[in-house]
Amino acid sequence: SVPPTPAVTVENLTKVFKAGLGKKAFVAVRDLSLQVQPGEVYGLIGPNGSGKSTTMKAILGLLAPTQGKTTIFGRSSTEVASRREVGFLPENPYFYKHLNGLETLLFYGRLCSMGGKELKDRAREMLALTGLEDAADRRVAGYSKGMLQRLGLAQALLHRPRLIVLDEPTAGVDPAGSRKIRDLVLGFKKEGITVLVTSHLLEQMQEVCDRVGIMAHGKMMREGRVDDLIAVENHTEIVLEDASPE
Ligand code: ADP
Ligand code: MG
Repeated sequence: SVPPTPAVTVENLTKVFKAGLGKKAFVAVRDLSLQVQPGEVYGLIGPNGSGKSTTMKAILGLLAPTQGKTTIFGRSSTEVASRREVGFLPENPYFYKHLNGLETLLFYGRLCSMGGKELKDRAREMLALTGLEDAADRRVAGYSKGMLQRLGLAQALLHRPRLIVLDEPTAGVDPAGSRKIRDLVLGFKKEGITVLVTSHLLEQMQEVCDRVGIMAHGKMMREGRVDDLIAVENHTEIVLEDASPE
């Protein structure tokens, strides 16, 4: 039988940020390859500066690779059609502060060509799913970090993507908020949505990820099932080392 089209492929991705403004050219990602299968939850783990966000932006078609290529459901990441199938929670989601939670989702929905009752119902549904129904009428300016992350998740899910990409969804979120986000990811998994998530903490990925890739200095160091990786070595060393050049 024909193997299923991978949800995501990264083939020999290299990203060099050019020199400028007193900064030297910098290789953020170096010859990196990975595949995420449909329905899989894949975690990309590594310290700050290891190249996780750069890799995600390349997958999403937001950054042009210096070398290599990336695909989403078998099509080049640069095709708008493939990006519509994707929900993205960026590292620090930001919103129009004067809008409330519901208005934020309605605004985004219209950008995705949604509208009418279908959009309103879906927005309410996503606010309920992320535990924000009581905050729906409050201005985003008053939201906590955890609430902003959950609003970002609600937004990423609004247009029913087949793939969701979450960049450090639990960074700066308290333990209760982190558990809530973890439960949401487990829910996506049940629905068969493919998830690509980053974190600098392996522990947080243990329960949710089918497989993880561990990055350092822009390179893939290890890849596999979390339990196998933990059994092989002292993972904290890899994860806590700070590769940031600053
Ligand atoms: P991570 O998400 O793992 O923390 P990033 O992918 O954000 O890592 O960054 C990897 C490295 O690339 C960092 O050292 C960062 O400073 C550098 N970098 C990221 N974006 C840019 C950019 N636009 N210009 C120059 N350097 C960048
Ligand atoms: Mg990052």
